[in-house]
Amino acid sequence: MDDQSLSGVADRNHTIAGETDDPATPDDKPGHECGVFGIVAADADVARLTFFGLYALQHRGQESAGIAVSNGRSIRYYKNMGLVAQVFDEEKLRPLSGYMAIGHTRYSTTGSSKLENAQPFVVESALGPLAVGHNGNLTNAASLRRELLQRGVGLTSSSDSEVITQMLAGGEGRTWEEKLKVFMVRAQGAYCLTVLTRDALYAVRDPWGLHPLCLGQLGEQGWVVASESCALGTIGAEFVREIEPGEILKITLDGPQVIARQPSLHTAACLFEYIYFARPDSMLHGKVLHAMRVAQGRELAREAPCDADVVIAVPDSATPAAIGYAQESGIPYSEGLIKNRYIGRTFIQPDDRLRKLGIALKFNALTDNLAGKRVVLVDDSIVRGNTSGPIVRLLREAGAREVHVRVSSPPIRHPCFLGVDMATYPELIAHRLTIEGIRQHLGADSLAYLSLEGLIRSTGRDPATFCTGCFTGQYPVEIEVVDKEVFEVR
Ligand code: AMP
Repeated sequence: MDDQSLSGVADRNHTIAGETDDPATPDDKPGHECGVFGIVAADADVARLTFFGLYALQHRGQESAGIAVSNGRSIRYYKNMGLVAQVFDEEKLRPLSGYMAIGHTRYSTTGSSKLENAQPFVVESALGPLAVGHNGNLTNAASLRRELLQRGVGLTSSSDSEVITQMLAGGEGRTWEEKLKVFMVRAQGAYCLTVLTRDALYAVRDPWGLHPLCLGQLGEQGWVVASESCALGTIGAEFVREIEPGEILKITLDGPQVIARQPSLHTAACLFEYIYFARPDSMLHGKVLHAMRVAQGRELAREAPCDADVVIAVPDSATPAAIGYAQESGIPYSEGLIKNRYIGRTFIQPDDRLRKLGIALKFNALTDNLAGKRVVLVDDSIVRGNTSGPIVRLLREAGAREVHVRVSSPPIRHPCFLGVDMATYPELIAHRLTIEGIRQHLGADSLAYLSLEGLIRSTGRDPATFCTGCFTGQYPVEIEVVDKEVFEVR
C-alpha cells in the first residue's frame, strides 16, 4: 500500500489497515455528486466490472474512487484520491477477488476532499464486515453524529456517509435487513446506498427518491445496481428498473429480493439531475435524459425568443438544450466553443499566468462560426456566475457581434442541502443580483432563464414529484443547516 491510499481487509481475523494523507484540493468549482455501483455475479471479475461501471459514472464525482469486494468470507477494498483511472491499475484490482462488489466515485457535499472521506467506508461489525457507498446528503447528519459520539462510537472522518456506516454497523436490529429498516426511520434527506456485507449486496434509496438508482441484469445470473443507467450499458448489462423511492433491495447469487418498500409520502426527485448532473444517455423515470434536455431548449426558445444568426452551446452539458433551442426557433445550431474533453480534474495546479487565462484552459472559440454573428449562447445553469462572463468575452473576442445568453434552468437562488454542491447563499449570483444585474455582470446583450413551469413541463412529470429547493428555497425535508466542513477532524 502506498502512503496516500487506504486499503485493507475486513473479516474476523483482520483489522482494517490504512494510511492517509491530505492531498491538495485545487478545484474550487462546485463539484458533481457521487456515483454508486454494485454487482453480484458468480464467475465474473466483479472488481474489473465495477471499475468500468465507475468509469461510466465518473462525471458524478472526480475526487476519489474506491472498490470493495466480498468473497463470502471477507471484504477487501482499495480507495484513493483521484479519477477512477488514476486510482486503479491491474495491480490494485488483482487482490480484489470475490463475487460481489461495490464501488464509489466521490465529490464532497458533507466533508471536504480528503482521503479519510473517500468511500466505500469499510468496518468490521458484530455481524461481520460491512462496506457502504453513499450518494446524497443527510439533512439530520449533525444530530445523528452527536448520538453516535455520545454512544462512544469513534469517527475518523467528517463525512455523513461514515455516520451511515456506523449507524448500520452498531445500530439496532439483529439482521442487516432490520438494521437498514431502523436506519431508514432515523435518516432524513438524500441517500442512495450500496451496502456490501459478507454474503449480500443491498441497494437502498431514500423515500423521497431524490437521486437516481437503478437495477440491471448481467447475463443470466448477474445483477447490477448503479446511480445511472449509462453504467449498465458500459458493462453489457440490461436496464431492469429503477430502485423505488423507499426501497431496500437485497441481491445475492439467488437474485434480487425486495426487503421493504416504505410507502413514499411525497417523492421529490432532484431537478438538477435533469438539468446538469446525470449523463444525457441515462434514463430517468423511463425517459432518456437527452430528449428531456432537448425539450428544455424548446421550452426556452418559446419562452425567450431571440433575433439571432446562430445558436451555440456551452459544451458539453448544454448541447442538447441548444439543439432544442435551434429546432424550435429555426435559428441554425453550430459549434462555437470546443472544450478540452480531458480537462477534468487535475492535481497539477496551473501557475499564475495560466490561471489568468481562466476558461481558456477549458474552451477555445471557433472564430469562423462566430465572426460578425448574433449569437445565442445556451447554458444549462448559472451557479456562481464565474464561467459565463469569461465565455461571453471569449465569444466577443472571436468576433461575435451580439451575445444573447439563454439558460435552460431557472435562476439558482438557494443552496442545496440534499447532495448537490451548489455553493452557499453569498456565492450564488442569482441570490445576490437581479436578472438585469447578472446580465450586466456577464456582459451579455440579453439574458433569459427557463421558467420552473417550463422546466417541469419538459420532463413530462407531475410538478409535485420534484425537489425545487435550489430554485424556490422550499425543500422536501427539514434542513439542519451545517457547514460542509463543520465536522472536520483536525
Ligand atoms: P458557475 O456559474 O461559474 O458556477 O458555473 C456554472 C456552470 O458549471 C454551468 O454551466 C454548469 O454546466 C456547470 N455546473 C453547474 N452546477 C455544477 C456543479 N454542481 N458542479 C460542477 N459544475 C456545475
